[in-house]
Amino acid sequence: MTESPAPTSTKPPVWKIWTWKLHWQILFSLLVGAGVGLAWAFLMYKLGPAEEKATLAQQGAVFGLDVMKLIGDLFLNGLKLVVVPLVVSSIVLSIAGLGKKAGFGRMATGTLLYYMCTSLLAILIGLGMVNLLQPGKSPGEAPLLDANRGKAVGEELSGEMSKVDSKKGSSAKDILSVFRNLVPSNPIAAASQTNLLGLITISILIGIFMPRLSDHLVDFMQNFWQSIHDLTMMITNLILAFAPLGVGCLLAATVAEQGNRLLGLGDAGETINLLRSILLFAITALLALSIHLFIVMPVVLACIAKVNPIQHYRAMLPAMLTAFSTSSSNATLPVTLECVEERVGVSRRTASFVLPLGATVNMDGTALYECVAALFVVQLFGFDLTLSEQFFVVLTALLTSIGVAGVPSASLVAIVIIITALESQLIGRGVIDGETGNGLLLSALPLILVFDRFLDMGRTVVNVFSDSCGAVVIGKAMGDDDLYPKEL
Ligand code: ASP
Repeated sequence: MTESPAPTSTKPPVWKIWTWKLHWQILFSLLVGAGVGLAWAFLMYKLGPAEEKATLAQQGAVFGLDVMKLIGDLFLNGLKLVVVPLVVSSIVLSIAGLGKKAGFGRMATGTLLYYMCTSLLAILIGLGMVNLLQPGKSPGEAPLLDANRGKAVGEELSGEMSKVDSKKGSSAKDILSVFRNLVPSNPIAAASQTNLLGLITISILIGIFMPRLSDHLVDFMQNFWQSIHDLTMMITNLILAFAPLGVGCLLAATVAEQGNRLLGLGDAGETINLLRSILLFAITALLALSIHLFIVMPVVLACIAKVNPIQHYRAMLPAMLTAFSTSSSNATLPVTLECVEERVGVSRRTASFVLPLGATVNMDGTALYECVAALFVVQLFGFDLTLSEQFFVVLTALLTSIGVAGVPSASLVAIVIIITALESQLIGRGVIDGETGNGLLLSALPLILVFDRFLDMGRTVVNVFSDSCGAVVIGKAMGDDDLYPKEL
């Protein structure tokens, strides 16, 4: 009897990067992007700022950075392009699909409850860590900042301050005004401004009332929204194929630009003395974010949803890496939806409602960061907060994180609101002088901005991951049992 030939291995060679699984491709390009970005930052720092009479080398470095930014921006724009049609069609189909089964109320209540609880947990972790590590506490007797020094630092970091000012201009004036977007006065404007909170309201209304139309109209509407959704998903898949390139270029450009800026800041005399505190602040925020991401979330997955957290991390890796490089929950949303539906296996009905809502309303990382940042500023001036003032920070961080948009550096708006409100409380208690102390706490805001871009990457990963865990928890409760169907 002749032996049949041994089956030949069809595994492609390792060097064919494009045949790797998507998450490995993205991870690889992130590493390359970080390396290139670092090298570029040093190069630009050594060459000096390219002013009017820039040398050829300076022009080349700036051109290289612009090319990286261009490729990254094209990818980012591609993602943003599909966000609005994807969110609206997903939510409409999800809610209309629930029909009269009264499932909507259950799903909505469960989702909001999950979002509130995890955000609160995240804030408490932030509160605990900032009280434990006290990043803003002075090693000596005198506080690190006082009214004069606060002003001096503000002037020294005037570049950073302009970012604060531009944010302050566009920021909401008080805590409740962040909810103004909830009911938009114009659906077209809501779509053009990517006001997701408003779009969610409109989509929920369409989804609720659609099944009440006459039969032929229901069919028409169903087909209409289904085609928009399927079409957008096809375009999303195409954009995702470029994720490794886009994500790598985004990270390289960010690291190059921010690295160059940080190297320049190192020259600032006043700031260097505060650098230890700023670094400790960044470490505190990162540690707190890690505790939430690697301890709290897996416990929620294992104990409440009864799934294997490792499988979930694997499934969500492309979305987490996209969140890391874009610093935007909104822009990551198409990837999050794709991962949760295709790789985790949560039903479209659940994912389509829970995730778009989460991208706007559920910001665990942002809420945690707001709390750490507000308390850091207070510590810099050597003030102590009473229990009720700390509770006030927790509450305002929770409320403002709901209204903050899922775009880069959005939490700055919320931090301005929290710090301003806290300052009024401290003035009321007589800790800050009402006449001269107005804007005192805000003068320390540029310090927070020094590492903001990198911390934003971390908190966006936490925001997106928590949304995906919410989809699993709610999906399980709604009867999605066949999770993680594919070997990843
Ligand atoms: N960049 C964050 C997000 O998109 C928001 C923030 O914390 O600034 O989720």
